[in-house]
Amino acid sequence: MAQGTQFRTTRPHMLKESKVYQTQTLMGGLSGFESPVGLDRRDRINALRTGDIGFVHSWDINTSVDGPGTRMTVFMSGCPLRCQYCQNPDTWKMRDGQPVYLQAMIDKVARYEDLFKATGGGITFSGGESMMQAAFVSRVFRAAKEMGVHTCLDTSGFLNRNYTDEMIKDIDLCLLDVKSGDEKTYKEVTGGTLAPTIEFGKRLEAAGAKIWVRFVLVPGLTDSEENVENVAKVCEQFKGAIEHIDILPFHQLGRPKWHELRIPYPLEDKKGPSHALQDRAKAQLEAHGFVVY
Ligand code: SF4
Repeated sequence: MAQGTQFRTTRPHMLKESKVYQTQTLMGGLSGFESPVGLDRRDRINALRTGDIGFVHSWDINTSVDGPGTRMTVFMSGCPLRCQYCQNPDTWKMRDGQPVYLQAMIDKVARYEDLFKATGGGITFSGGESMMQAAFVSRVFRAAKEMGVHTCLDTSGFLNRNYTDEMIKDIDLCLLDVKSGDEKTYKEVTGGTLAPTIEFGKRLEAAGAKIWVRFVLVPGLTDSEENVENVAKVCEQFKGAIEHIDILPFHQLGRPKWHELRIPYPLEDKKGPSHALQDRAKAQLEAHGFVVY
């Protein structure tokens, strides 16, 4: 996402070259939304439950980053995980987001409806963790589907129980982060558990949604042959839904934010994976019959 001229990243899939991303980003930040004022804690809790208001970090219009075609990507605030390689620790706290009315978000989607349809694009909710605000996200998706606009949810699946079967019906595509292949490594990488990701993958497959899996390759953390094999085994559990797997090579674009926020950064001196390592991981996943980028 872009805010002013500064490159910002939110999700592991943003571990792309900033120059590439900037050329694909047309506009964004938090412009164009009238924000509710004077919300107290109870108002916020109610708004979260009903989805009348969403807490948004930023949004942008981009191409070929968060799903097919030209897309409006909305980065929701709040995340229960603490990934060691997180590119945007500034999205972790929901209270740091800007409250946005549901109708304002739906109006924004409607404004770009023709563009989405002409390019095969649509709306993507990312984060933070988009499922933390399941009511808001799913109500926007419902409205998008009524307009005939493609919907995409970018998530780790960690909060999959927040999302009902009814809500899942409105997801066309899920960018599903499989952050590791076994519980022990998943815990080490994220502080959370892997089982909900698998459960969500199976539910998506049952609902007929498509999945693009994302796996961040971090030397010394997620790159062991055993872990990559386990990632493949995880993906095999919802293989029918997977169109491809993206291997995202770790790099250091997020480091300045950890410093800015004065949070100790666990991957301070970590280097990205070599081409040879990326090739090995790709070959391993391909051996299981997946299309891998
Ligand atoms: S899941 Fe949360 S902690 Fe992990 S990379 Fe995404 S925003 Fe950061």
